[in-house]
Amino acid sequence: MNRSRWRLPGLLPAPVPPPSPPPDSGPSDLEQPSEEPRGLGAGPVDAHASLPQATAQLTVQRARLDGAGEPVFELVGFCCCGEDLPPTRNGRHGRPPRIALGTLISGESGGESPTRSLNRMRSWSRSKYELLGWIRRIRDRHGDDLRLIIWDDSGFEIPWELLWVDQAGSGGPGAWLGALAVVTRWTTVHAPGGPLPYASADRRGSVAGYVADEMSRDRDLLAAHRLSPTLWELISHLETSGPGPALVYIACHGEYGSTGFDFTLGDLAVGEVDWRTFPRVADGGGLVFVNACHSGRLIDDPEYNDATTRGFAEVFLRSGAAGFLGTAGAVLEDEAHRVAAHLLAGMGEPSGLGVATALRDYRRTIAVTDLPPVADRPRSKELLPFVSAFMYLYFGGPDTTIALYGGGG
Ligand SMILES: [Zn+2]
Repeated sequence: MNRSRWRLPGLLPAPVPPPSPPPDSGPSDLEQPSEEPRGLGAGPVDAHASLPQATAQLTVQRARLDGAGEPVFELVGFCCCGEDLPPTRNGRHGRPPRIALGTLISGESGGESPTRSLNRMRSWSRSKYELLGWIRRIRDRHGDDLRLIIWDDSGFEIPWELLWVDQAGSGGPGAWLGALAVVTRWTTVHAPGGPLPYASADRRGSVAGYVADEMSRDRDLLAAHRLSPTLWELISHLETSGPGPALVYIACHGEYGSTGFDFTLGDLAVGEVDWRTFPRVADGGGLVFVNACHSGRLIDDPEYNDATTRGFAEVFLRSGAAGFLGTAGAVLEDEAHRVAAHLLAGMGEPSGLGVATALRDYRRTIAVTDLPPVADRPRSKELLPFVSAFMYLYFGGPDTTIALYGGGG
């Protein structure tokens, strides 16, 4: 299953390192007093040339103003065409303590009203006007082709897909970033020669998966493919050598915790998979889709204090997956099933599914721009599927496509 060709940036002789962050630097490296802003001028590498056409990159790093006080985030944005965002790091870019969807939204069981969270995102977005201006410029330049890679090592869990891009007083309609452009995520992979977010792959093959009983409807979507009876059986299968699947699909219950043993999928903790490698994932080089609450979140485990971001996304990207799809928080089971049905149906097409583009298109169909009053609780609750859809985070090459056939694998 390694016959698929690597696409962009296939014309380059070798992957060009990103200008920032360096592949193995952790967030705490960045909390040094007042360095010169890291931009594109750190070396001879032409960052723009390393980006495929119509692709921009936004890096988000933790820093401290004047070397003291609360941490802020620093943004560095650049686009294939030379349209750059000046490095931004100031008091308007402090750590936002109340916008992480994983803590605000908690499915049907409670949590904040979706309308309030969406108002928060609009109000928070408003003060990031340099960023909004840059996004408008690159969107104007590249239109619907725009791919935006967000490489966020801040650990602040900012829901970038729900950044509200208004039209700066022009009177035109605004849009949520995740519906406006193809948005992909990246996190620094802590390994020598670790992968970078620019390469996309076309993968064709079968599925290796696990679907827990509470998500059993998803089994109908995967008829004829290999499903493991337990999550541990799937993990053991992926740890052996052999032909790899184009898609690893896991649907189960997920729990978030800030340490490796409190952050779990079913009965599997991050602390139990973080050190493993998965030869079949490497061989398949495809997509790992973990359709579970919190599955795309990342932690900086305080029990290790080693400036190393951990999580299921990082594990599988490090193992050689071309992409990882997970969630930023608690998602409704109905919505989880709907997202899976939409994406898996596209993967059944002969041409395959461009995962990141399909997610953008799905968000467009479900996004709401006219927010009801926060006090209107029934209408607010109707927005949960919309917010759930924007909680799916895709890490990987912007143009990676997955096509599924037959069983086996
Ligand atoms: Zn450009």
